[in-house]
This record gives sequence, C-alpha cells and structure tokens, in this order.
Amino acid sequence: MKAAVVRDFTAPLVIEDRPLPEPAPHQVRVRIEASGLCHTDLHAAHGDWPVTPQPPFVPGHEGVGIVEAAGDQVRHVRVGDRVAIPWLADACGRCDHCVSGWETLCLEQHNSGYSVDGAHAQYALAHGDYVVPVPDGVDPLDAAPLSCAGVTTYKAVKVSGARPGTRVLVSGIGGLGHLALQYARIAGAETVAVDVTDDKLALARELGADHVIDARTQDVAAEVQRLGGADAAVSLAVSNESFQAAYGSLRRGGTLVLVALPAGGRLELPVFDTVLNGITVVGSIVGTRQDLADTFRLHALGRTRVIRESRRLEEVNTCMDELLAGKVTARLVFDLR
Ligand code: NAD
Ligand code: ZN
Ligand code: ZN
Repeated sequence: MKAAVVRDFTAPLVIEDRPLPEPAPHQVRVRIEASGLCHTDLHAAHGDWPVTPQPPFVPGHEGVGIVEAAGDQVRHVRVGDRVAIPWLADACGRCDHCVSGWETLCLEQHNSGYSVDGAHAQYALAHGDYVVPVPDGVDPLDAAPLSCAGVTTYKAVKVSGARPGTRVLVSGIGGLGHLALQYARIAGAETVAVDVTDDKLALARELGADHVIDARTQDVAAEVQRLGGADAAVSLAVSNESFQAAYGSLRRGGTLVLVALPAGGRLELPVFDTVLNGITVVGSIVGTRQDLADTFRLHALGRTRVIRESRRLEEVNTCMDELLAGKVTARLVFDLR
C-alpha cells in the first residue's frame, strides 16, 4: 500500500510502498477513502511541539474509510462499516478522565498520525472501540475534515459558552475556523470572524459571519470592543499575536478558548486585568467520540457545510506548502478512492 511518511523533520515526506498492515485482535484495518490535511500534520512533520513524534511515521488524523478486516475482539463495528479515525487513537478507558467523559485528557492516550501511524495512506489500523461510525448519507470527503476540524471546534464552541445573545469571536477562518463559525451560529451567537487573507474573509462573509475583521489592516481588539466586546473568543490562528488580540477583544466575564498550537506558543496575561475583568482562559483539545458522533449528526441534518478541495496523496508536499502559506481555502482532503 501507498503511505505518506515523515522520515525527517527537515525533509519533505516520502511516498512509500508498505506491506498491508494486519490488525491485532482489538484492531480494524480501514481502507482509507478520504484523509484531511490538518495544520497539526505540519506541526507533526516539522517537530514543532515539546513532545515530538518519532520518525518514520505516517501523519493524518482525519481518516475516513471502510472497515476491511477486524480482529476477533472487535465488537462495535463490522466489516463494511464506514468509520472515522480521529486524533484520539485510543485511551485507557479506566482513569478518572476516561470514565467522566474527558477521554481526551487521558494520560495513556495514543494519537493517530503522531504516536501511532495515521491515515495519509491507502490503509490504516485503528482501535475498534475508538473509531467512530460515519452516518449514511455523509460524504466521506466531508466526514474527513469533520473528524478533527469539525469535532475540535464543535467542542471549543461548547466550551466557550456560546448561546443566543452572546457575541463570539472566531480568530482564524481556516480548516477549523470555517466550521467554528458555523457552530457558533448554530449556538445562536452573534459572530465576529477574523483572518488575514482576502479569501478567508470572503469565506467568512459567505458563511454568514455578522462582522468580519481583517487583522492586517484593522486593530482587532479595538474593533471588537467598539461592538461591545466578545463574550467568548476561540483562538484558531497559528499566531501568538492573534492570541493577544483575541484576549483584548473580550468583555468583562469573557472566555478565551485556546485551540491553535503554534511552535513555542505563548500568551502574556496581565494579571490585574484578568482578575478585575473576571476573564476565563481555557484550553480545548479535540473532542470525545460522542462529540464526533454529534458533529456527524449535525452534518447529516444539513446544518454544516464543509469547504474543501480534493487532492491526490502524491501531492502531499505541495499541499503542505500551500497550507503553510495560507493559500488553502478551508481544507484539503486526499481522495484515496
Ligand atoms: P489553517 O492553516 O487551516 O487555519 C489557520 C487560519 O488562521 C488561516 O485561515 C490563516 O489565514 C489564519 N491566520 C493566520 N494569522 C492570523 C492572524 N494573525 N489573525 C487571524 N487569523 C490568522 O489551520 P487549521 O488546520 O485550522 O489549524 C489551526 C491550528 O489549530 C493549528 O495550530 C493546529 O495544530 C491547531 N489544532 C488544534 C486542535 C486542538 O484540539 N486544540 C485540533 C486541531 C488543530
Ligand atoms: Zn487536526
Ligand atoms: Zn484514561
């Protein structure tokens, strides 16, 4: 099978021919139909974060495909089912985080395309209990971005407390942001979209953002304060400056939800203002299997639109260059069918 492999943090990925992987008793082998390219794949391929993956590895954690073989302990999915392989490859299932609905905080988790091989390949192995069924009628090319960009922002918007009457800032209208904007609207919030490219600003308008701010030419915090300030800001731009601007946009009692993970990401918090203004700063990491099931259900109901372009796996390096340069309109998805 073909797989895109990171061999070195400073070199392009290599398309390799690998043997077909055999599932262990708890695993399934998924014939990948679609695999979305998340900005996290760039961080993984470049070794950006404090904990790095071990090359060689196959990135990709927005994998969608058909279960082709299942080990004899697999109970919840069957051969022929369409499933998603998300970031949370597996977790211990027993710790307080796992049993209280916060499996994404499990200390023993593995992550697809990071600590275990991911979905930028024709086939991938996955844990039978941690793949998430894709409902009938959801296009696999849509399901792929929903498996990370979708579920992550669905969760982040929930964590933000967005509801009717609130004003929510979405900073960065990329793969994650174009969906965050839609979930904030579904929650009933007034929305403010911020980006630094004309395409993304146009996309935000098309998706119904109530206000659109160009961070290249406008002072984001000042503009949002003029509107009355944001009850919540969801930070999805790969830029430290954007965190500071999002923080500065909040009104009293507001919540900053940190999601983007730039290399060496830092936010300077003025303690006095944070205390007197009653500000909450919270980190949000992907979502649970249940969050992903909710995300798929919303899409099946026609409430969300996934903006994406399909590419061939062989184009992985040019796709990564485009994503890094901010030239991608929302999401690129490898079509492996
Ligand atoms: P992306 O490249 O598709 O989108 C980033 C967007 O930010 C782009 O539209 C870009 O134009 C915009 N941007 C850049 N500078 C900006 C600025 N100063 N102000 C406003 N917008 C700006 O990336 P993505 O795939 O959406 O991922 C975004 C980040 O989220 C990455 O760091 C990724 O690793 C991280 N991520 C985190 C989680 C999590 O669970 N916390 C999950 C997935 C991805
Ligand atoms: Zn991702
Ligand atoms: Zn656990």
